[in-house]
Amino acid sequence: MTVEFQVQGVPVSELARRYGTPLFVYDGTALRDRFHGLRDRLHPAMEIFYSLKANPNISICALLHSFGARAEVSSLVELTTALRAGVPPQQVIFLGPGKSRQELAACLDSGIHAVVCESIPEVALVDELARERGVKAPVALRVNPRFAVKRSGLAMGGKPRQFGIDEEELFATTDLVKRFPDVDLMGVHVYMGTRILHEAVIVENTTRILDLAERLSAALNLELRMVDVGGGLGVSYFDGESDLDVQVLTDGLNPVIEDFTARHPGTRLIMELGRYLTAEAGTYVMGVRYTKTSMGERFAVADGGTHHHMAAVGIGSFVKRNFPMAVLNRLDEPATEEWNVTGPLCTPGDTIGKKVPLPPVRPGDLIGVHRSGAYGPTASPGLFLSHGYPAEVLVHEGRCHLVRERDSPEDLLQRQRLYDPTAHDAADVPH
Ligand SMILES: *Cc1c(COP(=O)(O)O)cnc(C)c1O
Repeated sequence: MTVEFQVQGVPVSELARRYGTPLFVYDGTALRDRFHGLRDRLHPAMEIFYSLKANPNISICALLHSFGARAEVSSLVELTTALRAGVPPQQVIFLGPGKSRQELAACLDSGIHAVVCESIPEVALVDELARERGVKAPVALRVNPRFAVKRSGLAMGGKPRQFGIDEEELFATTDLVKRFPDVDLMGVHVYMGTRILHEAVIVENTTRILDLAERLSAALNLELRMVDVGGGLGVSYFDGESDLDVQVLTDGLNPVIEDFTARHPGTRLIMELGRYLTAEAGTYVMGVRYTKTSMGERFAVADGGTHHHMAAVGIGSFVKRNFPMAVLNRLDEPATEEWNVTGPLCTPGDTIGKKVPLPPVRPGDLIGVHRSGAYGPTASPGLFLSHGYPAEVLVHEGRCHLVRERDSPEDLLQRQRLYDPTAHDAADVPH
């Protein structure tokens, strides 16, 4: 008997038959366990906001919200997604360095908890929009701190950045509250980086951010109704990495949070998490189309590739490191061979895995990339070679839900126009 990968009792071959491949499958129970693993141990004063950037699927957002997550959004569509998923506006914050006037207006009109401003000109625009509406705009300031975090996948602080306002500049701009009368400066946001796999680094960041928020609040005379300490909690993908120990992490964080809340009982504390919440719950399933050898190496050419899963190419690394992969329909067979797993794109870069230890691969096999629930389609060039985005399926409480339809050729073509050489757009100046 062969052992097959299952999601809540549903065999992967059944999912592939029903929905086709390539396919993203999300396990609702894994998502819940992930959320509660942290929520149940973390100090209750610290709210968990889901960063939709990691996986903007509306059903993922709704499910996480049903467990208790709030939402951190960075575009008009993400804002609309969170609201349609049922997240109340007071549980939504909006951040991002280049918000449009339309996005800022939508923030004010929908009544979200805070607009996180990333520059002083942006605060000025919010002030103007608030005045037009006769409201006070709730604004948190994103700070680009002087300090940087070591040992993160991508460090944010201590460097010139388009994100946030430099700490030095803020401390020097003491008339900020007075300058923008229609803005309610109510909080501070700092995001130190992503893919952090060391508990002590997250505890240290949080400690420094809370301290910075207190000092800023005193210097600028701004109320501290909210402090967003970022997050950046990572998950392990590669050999030699190990996952955060949530008990060690919360044992370190909780006293820091307790200490702060004792002094600021009215301050909302926010941690924003993307990858940490969704990565583990997702599997990218590809069907093998052809197998071949080239100059002594084995290739499994699959129907899926980096146009859906760019992250699997390797993050910030020149050496190709592989995500965890398996032949899902024959899990029990020992990995006795090395395979390059490639996709349908006409570029050598379309390599999902290099020299991956797998059992002998055959056409029709289903190769799975585990830990693929974050930064999949959303962070991949889905339009490359006009393949479009794959289907996404959520399995929850034993039931399957198609939560994103696969792009059809018509979907991909319908926004293009075949030009008519005898006509021109009305706005054009005819020659
Ligand atoms: C990308 C981003 C997040 C989410 O990052 P993860 O590493 O997925 O948790 C949160 N906050 C900000 C400001 C971000 O840019």
